[in-house]
Amino acid sequence: PYEVLIVGGGPAGAAAAIYAARKGIRTGLVAERFGGQVLDTMSIENFPSVEYTEGPKLAASLEAHVRSYGVDIITAQRAKALHPAGATGDMAGVELESGATLRARTVILAPGARWRQTGVPGEADYRTKGVTYCPHCDGPLFKGKKVAVIGGGNSGIEAAIDLAGVVEHVTVLEFDGKLRADDVLQRKLASLPNTAVHLNAQTTEMIGDGGKLTGLRFSDRTNGQVSDLELAGVFVQIGLLPNTEWLKGAVELSPRGEIVIDDRGQTSAPGVFAAGDATTEPFKQIVVAMGGGSTAALSAFDFLIRHSAP
Ligand code: FAD
Repeated sequence: PYEVLIVGGGPAGAAAAIYAARKGIRTGLVAERFGGQVLDTMSIENFPSVEYTEGPKLAASLEAHVRSYGVDIITAQRAKALHPAGATGDMAGVELESGATLRARTVILAPGARWRQTGVPGEADYRTKGVTYCPHCDGPLFKGKKVAVIGGGNSGIEAAIDLAGVVEHVTVLEFDGKLRADDVLQRKLASLPNTAVHLNAQTTEMIGDGGKLTGLRFSDRTNGQVSDLELAGVFVQIGLLPNTEWLKGAVELSPRGEIVIDDRGQTSAPGVFAAGDATTEPFKQIVVAMGGGSTAALSAFDFLIRHSAP
């Protein structure tokens, strides 16, 4: 059995593994894909002390760093259930889809998150060919062009404000009859001349020429009228889904499915800690996830000291 078993090999899980292994305790890490979302990231320019790097490069150095401590890394395996230790202080179990169960005295959950998709025709075909999910990453690619943002929540309106400074024009499409973003963001958006908002707008198709996106089609939910927009880019901002479906019932999740943690990374289950995009931590960024991972590992170590036989 492990003293610390980490589920997830993104920035949060990797940082947790380094901090745990440096305490000289038996550390395992199980991940479907080592690197997590970082693998899907082209340029990273906000990792302090590194002016510019690329996702796959950062993921490779993270893996090399974790391996240098002799962490037992198990990849290409998905966890399907967590069985926290019982009140009697026995081991926790992490059940894998392969059928095996890994046992550990403490568990750190770092399964990350994924962007929610609209699921309309064309979205998958034009992904990275005009359809994108990350304004901070891809905004500059559409300099001087027309784009749309799907979603009128805080992330959608923040994206629209951000993009308006870079692109020619931004159209926001909101499914509901009103925007859900904070008032201060809505007022800021309304003050920008190169933006427009369509409420009750149901996106029905992302249109392209076979090679790249050229626009989208939406219908007005109040009267069924169909309209087409000519666009170079579509930013889908309808939510980030935590990869926590398999944790229901094992630890407390927020209404959005995020693992509820305190400022020490403690979950509702004793001996189970969590970090990164899968948790209630409000900011979903690489350095934030790494900070959370190190906090969770130090908390797990503290737990082990207090709960080991003298
Ligand atoms: P993730 O990176 O999501 O890693 C989750 C890990 O858990 C993976 O190893 C995954 O395989 C594994 N996993 C999930 N479920 C299971 C399971 N059931 N069993 C086993 N393993 C599982 N942030 C920045 O700071 N700067 C940027 O420039 C930046 N650009 C981004 C660009 C894109 C396109 C995207 C998608 C994100 C970007 N981010 C950026 C956000 C950043 O990538 C995330 O905040 C960060 O990766 C979160 O780390 P994490 O370890 O919590 O989760």
